Amino acid sequence: MSKKVRVRFAPSPTGPLHIGGVRTALFNYLFAKKHGGDFVLRIEDTDQNRYVEGAEDYIVESLNWCGISFDEGPNKNEKFGPYRQSERKDLYKQYADELIASGNAYYAFDTAEQLDAERKGHEEKGKTFIYNWHNRERGRLVNSLVLTEAETKAKIEAGEDFVIRFKSPQDETLHLTDIIRGNIKIDTNVLDDKVLFKSDGMPTYHLANIVDDHLMEITHVIRGEEWLPSLALHKLLYDAFGWEAPEFAHLPLILKPTGKGKLSKRDGDKMGFPVFPLEYTAPDGTVSRGYKEDGYFPEAVVNFLAFLGWNPGTEQEIFSLEQLVADFDLARVNKAGARFDPDKTKWFNHHY
Ligand code: GLU
Repeated sequence: MSKKVRVRFAPSPTGPLHIGGVRTALFNYLFAKKHGGDFVLRIEDTDQNRYVEGAEDYIVESLNWCGISFDEGPNKNEKFGPYRQSERKDLYKQYADELIASGNAYYAFDTAEQLDAERKGHEEKGKTFIYNWHNRERGRLVNSLVLTEAETKAKIEAGEDFVIRFKSPQDETLHLTDIIRGNIKIDTNVLDDKVLFKSDGMPTYHLANIVDDHLMEITHVIRGEEWLPSLALHKLLYDAFGWEAPEFAHLPLILKPTGKGKLSKRDGDKMGFPVFPLEYTAPDGTVSRGYKEDGYFPEAVVNFLAFLGWNPGTEQEIFSLEQLVADFDLARVNKAGARFDPDKTKWFNHHY
């Protein structure tokens, strides 16, 4: 690797940090430390409707409890970050405007009612609703507006609500690469023109995430598998800006103890094991269990999480954080989902 490795953990403060999130943070941290790189915490708080008070503190405290620290913050040398997207919001509009100027994005004025009508119309005909430039121009979206530049300008001046959408290329095959998943092929005609900038003056996750990863010089994006469907758009955004894309690694899902479906808070509640690092009290007063309060050692939890989707390729099972740093390798991360076994956490705890 020629450039200095820089990775980030980028949670949205929409609630407590689930152990899946801790695992993502841990793998980023291990990768950074292994390669003498930096690990950055970035709070992705541009979706005001989903913002939960106190979630950021919970995230920082949970990671600190696990022994995971950050290498910088907004003031570069500040010890425990984090960067917050809400404090950088003026920046994103500039980049959305740049995409409009280069012809890679456009203003759209469709109302929620128009979009619903389109969606329904497609469903009734058994068709998939794909909102993109191509379908608009070809009249496949009957309610949607295709405007001239002058009409667009007039609407903006009249103060009408708009969003800015990415213009996905048509009739192309994208060849994407993921460190864990290998090569992925995508037909661009299946892509929606995703909203990059919303009518409330905030960027969407996609735009803010790409702009920040670029500006923060992130070299490797290591995140959960649920973000794999966004990879095509993200790669297209890098290309549209003329920026070099980082490398991507999508981590396998953490599955329920039965092996069927994604592990949820409900599984923990039902079966009596924690799914959070620290105890969490929801706004409605419900308390969910935390590993810390249940008497687990942070080292045991970290050791257990490291084995969810990764293995060292040897018989060794007990690792300190330093040993994990030394042995961690993305090449040994599995594609298949990792089954969560509560008895195994107890086993790890017993050995500490
Ligand atoms: N804000 C996203 C999340 O909550 C980040 C996804 C990413 O790492 O790109 O998981």
